[in-house]
Amino acid sequence: MSANKKLLVLPGDGIGPEVMDEVERVVEWLDKKRRVTFSVERGLVGGAAYDADGTPLTDATMEKAQGADAVLLGAVGGPKWETLPFEHRPERGLLRLRKEMALFANLRPAQVFAPLVDASSLKPELVRGLDIMILRELTGGVYFGEPRGIETLSDGQKRGFNTQSYTTSEIERVARVGFELARKRGNKLCSVEKANVMESGVLWREVVQALGDKDYPDVQLSHMYADNCAMQLVRAPKQFDVIVTDNLFGDILSDCAAMLTGSLGMLPSASLGAADESGRRKALYEPVHGSAPDIAGQGKANPLATLLSFAMMLRYSFDMDEDAKLIEQGVEKLLAQGVRTPDIRLEGTPTVTTKEMGKALIAEMEILARD
Ligand code: NAD
Repeated sequence: MSANKKLLVLPGDGIGPEVMDEVERVVEWLDKKRRVTFSVERGLVGGAAYDADGTPLTDATMEKAQGADAVLLGAVGGPKWETLPFEHRPERGLLRLRKEMALFANLRPAQVFAPLVDASSLKPELVRGLDIMILRELTGGVYFGEPRGIETLSDGQKRGFNTQSYTTSEIERVARVGFELARKRGNKLCSVEKANVMESGVLWREVVQALGDKDYPDVQLSHMYADNCAMQLVRAPKQFDVIVTDNLFGDILSDCAAMLTGSLGMLPSASLGAADESGRRKALYEPVHGSAPDIAGQGKANPLATLLSFAMMLRYSFDMDEDAKLIEQGVEKLLAQGVRTPDIRLEGTPTVTTKEMGKALIAEMEILARD
């Protein structure tokens, strides 16, 4: 029996609990069939935590997250909590997790499953087989740099300002994650900045290149300006394998790449912290979508983004690549058979509920595991 893996599950609000139930179904299946034991603890985050405890994340839940091998989050937010003061808002719970776990590396894969190739806004031949990873620096750069603010000038005008700033170590640690990811994938890393107009970009490029020369000479490293990268993503996205970039450019480019795949209900993500002496990283996995209050409680939510986030957890936190693939291949097979929730429905065909999708995935995984 493999070692016990400590998993903290935070379903959150809206469709969060519904999609998370389907992950727990897979966890049980893995426990039973694959001889891996997860010890799963559930906690509250977001509006659900506010309703129960008057805060979007209690200190006790924060402590559990710090002690877990990995955290899986559903989604937070909804109209019920929109008028709360800023510090009580659901998203503060998520931001606290990211900040206190020091999750500096945000992984957003953009993968086009063959049966969904027509859901992309790009021509099928441009996206068929697409599988790229955008790695965004998450805790530095212009969103956090000081000084920042809005000041009133002597002529009465106002001036808003932010500071883009990166240190060598901030660049190095995220670039290292990028090189490691590339090694596990297509062995290509493209580093993206605007070194032509920004000093922080000049330093970014120098540090990434130096790290590549020193520790990762086997990885094919290239550099690209962010504006060109945006163009290339919609012109010829398959040229990329892993893209590493800063917080601001990563925010934009990861959303752009996500839409190459066509559906919000299919997009997973991971956020990783620094490795400890044993190589273990703090990690939070979550779907890209929000709490979808418009369809919550109706069995219409697509659980695949959360299930694929769980697959990322198996791969990146637990080195269980084979089991991650079992989920991913199961998803691809279901899609090919036309098993669809309403968000990815095929014209004129019936759809399945959230639960039915989860059960169908288990059935596919059973078949795949037997082969
Ligand atoms: P959203 O992602 O919740 O929904 C956008 C649209 O996509 C909706 O029509 C929704 O029904 C649909 N959708 C989203 N996920 C789906 C799924 N798994 N299956 C089927 N359809 C799906 O974004 P929004 O409507 O802008 O925000 C709703 C709430 O979620 C807000 O309170 C917002 O603050 C919050 N939010 C949270 C997160 C997060 O927890 N990380 C991210 C984005 C938004």
